[in-house]
Amino acid sequence: AFEYAPAPESRAIVDIKPSYGLFVNGEFVESVDGRPIKTVSPATEEVLAEVAAAGEQDVDRAVQAARRAYETTWSKLPGKERAKYLFRIARIIQERARELAVLETLDNGKPIRESRDVDIPLVAAHFFYYAGWADKLEYAGFGPDPRPLGVAGQVIPWNFPLLMLAWKVAPALACGNTVVLKPAETTPLTALRFAEICQQADLPPGVVNIVTGAGETGSYLVSHPGVDKVAFTGSTEVGKRIARAVAGTRKRLTLELGGKAANIVFEDAAVDQAVEGIVNGIFFNQGHVCCAGSRLLVQESVYEEVLAALKRRMATLRVGDPLDKNTDIGAINSPQQLAKIRALSEIGEAEGAERWSPPCELPDRGYWFPPTVFTGVSQAHRIAREEIFGPVLSVLTFRTPAEAVEKANNTPYGLSAGVWTEKGSRILWMADKLRAGVVWANTFNRFDPASPFGGYKESGYGREGGRHGLEAYLDV
Ligand code: NAD
Repeated sequence: AFEYAPAPESRAIVDIKPSYGLFVNGEFVESVDGRPIKTVSPATEEVLAEVAAAGEQDVDRAVQAARRAYETTWSKLPGKERAKYLFRIARIIQERARELAVLETLDNGKPIRESRDVDIPLVAAHFFYYAGWADKLEYAGFGPDPRPLGVAGQVIPWNFPLLMLAWKVAPALACGNTVVLKPAETTPLTALRFAEICQQADLPPGVVNIVTGAGETGSYLVSHPGVDKVAFTGSTEVGKRIARAVAGTRKRLTLELGGKAANIVFEDAAVDQAVEGIVNGIFFNQGHVCCAGSRLLVQESVYEEVLAALKRRMATLRVGDPLDKNTDIGAINSPQQLAKIRALSEIGEAEGAERWSPPCELPDRGYWFPPTVFTGVSQAHRIAREEIFGPVLSVLTFRTPAEAVEKANNTPYGLSAGVWTEKGSRILWMADKLRAGVVWANTFNRFDPASPFGGYKESGYGREGGRHGLEAYLDV
């Protein structure tokens, strides 16, 4: 096994200011009608910085700046000029990768190994990928004269703060739109650092605007009449609220919402490999993943074997300091999220499922939850139906492939699924039958900027990533 050096990544490499303003028209400005809110490190409960919860006038200023930039500069630039800026941003992200990874880990609580090896490299990859599209839109079969939509209002969650920004900002800018983005209230710091990167890249003022704040700020943004396109990633509940707010307007809308993915293990799967995929599927990023493999479906004949191997593997997971390179599971992002995970776990026990976690010592301060597996789960149990968004796995069994499909699809969601089998024909059959936007075979949680991502049913509509991700930002 590969051992990482035990020294924690130092937070000394990030310079966090005590307070931040909003990023409007290329500058950091004081909020006009907002109020201050604090962002806290979930691993230590230390206040990291104060940011503004932008008010209605703040949002209006940002939308107006985006409109001016759209009309005067950005939409007028040839694609190859927009590409230069996007390539420049991608390179700066690479140069500042360590700083961004540490900042993300401090604000979000995720293990540094994940922010360093997954989040930030994917952020850079998205900007490189969409930079490559900016000068090729005319030739890519979108129609004779693809045009940007205008000003995009983008609202993102806290689980992959900078990566969700990249998914939204990179394609919007590549197509010639300008943006006003609202990061989640518990993780604003990397979006504000991204604002500095836009300055460093000499991006024309107003092309990117960042308004921090909570749901209220988000609702001002999505309801603003000057916004042409709304892109939202977050919970299904808020997604529906936004769909109602946007209904009856001319705005375009894409929604990336929740999930309750099935990770399906057949009796002919390579068990060790499948167990790694199960662990990655549910414990990566503390299970704060919309496409987390939170329902494990195991074929009955290998149930005992898979469960024993899974428990052995779970016992090796290290929970603790997210800045320590040895850590596998970091902090839960907020006390609210911790309370939700606890409540649903208690409901799981009350409904009769059996709960197991390996022995593990959790730090005294901060928000923590141990890796947890529930067995004896039936489809009627709430832990089998509701998104827990934490390191909690529900295990169900099946006998036949048809039963696996029926159970996997028995959910209001349809974001992702995983299939573990050595039979190629079965992979193709399952991929066809599963109602999920992504089906992974003998792997899980794999992402690439060239691959479209998005859901069916209550997991939302529209795709991000790949060529399809551009369609959400173009008119033909
Ligand atoms: P959330 O819906 O509570 O918040 C998401 C964002 O919306 C935040 O920035 C929040 O401030 C803002 N918001 C809240 N109320 C709003 C309103 N009325 N109008 C406008 N904006 C509002 O979700 P969360 O707890 O931050 O994130 C977790 C959820 O996100 C999970 O359900 C997860 O599955 C989902 N998610 C989905 C994807 C995907 O690609 N499908 C990716 C990541 C997360």
